[in-house]
Amino acid sequence: KLKDKEIRVLMLGLDNSGKTTIVKKILNEDVNEVSPTLGFNIRTVTRGQYKLNIWDIGGQKTLRPFWRNYFEKTDFMIWVVDASATDRLHDCRKELQAILNEDRLVGAGVLIWINKLDLVDPDQRDKTVERISGHLDLDQIPEGHNTTIMGCSAYTGYNLDAGMDLVVKEVS
Ligand code: GDP
Repeated sequence: KLKDKEIRVLMLGLDNSGKTTIVKKILNEDVNEVSPTLGFNIRTVTRGQYKLNIWDIGGQKTLRPFWRNYFEKTDFMIWVVDASATDRLHDCRKELQAILNEDRLVGAGVLIWINKLDLVDPDQRDKTVERISGHLDLDQIPEGHNTTIMGCSAYTGYNLDAGMDLVVKEVS
């Protein structure tokens, strides 16, 4: 499956969930300088002998119909959720479930990052991840996806390494 040790990673989620900030943090860039993604950004992260080409796609409502243009040849999908945007969970679930049912993404591993956990009390983080997973119906993921759910924070870097390690492990 893997050619030339390059991994194509599609990063999706509603706008403002923190996709661009996550990629910047992984690349050790200044996370205070992020502007909304109007189309897409491709950034390359190197992990050992692997090159992860991360496609960070804009998530505004008007851009979502274009997501499908990026599905082809995707090895792995990362879906980012804003843990603090409880009012958007319904919308988030709808979009995520639609994506998980796309034929062209069958076989791709999936990581769901519940981001911005720095905004949640440390002793409430596990519960928050569990509660959001419940709202997103993650116990009903269609067959054909190996799915992992993790809390993370683009600001503190929490679980960003763990997520990248998971991508490499699942795809290689
Ligand atoms: P995108 O639209 O998904 O690419 O989201 P952005 O990366 O543009 O981030 C949206 C907003 O959320 C920005 O104001 C970020 O500074 C903020 N943000 C992103 N990640 C985090 C995080 O881990 N913690 C907190 N507190 N804010 C975050």
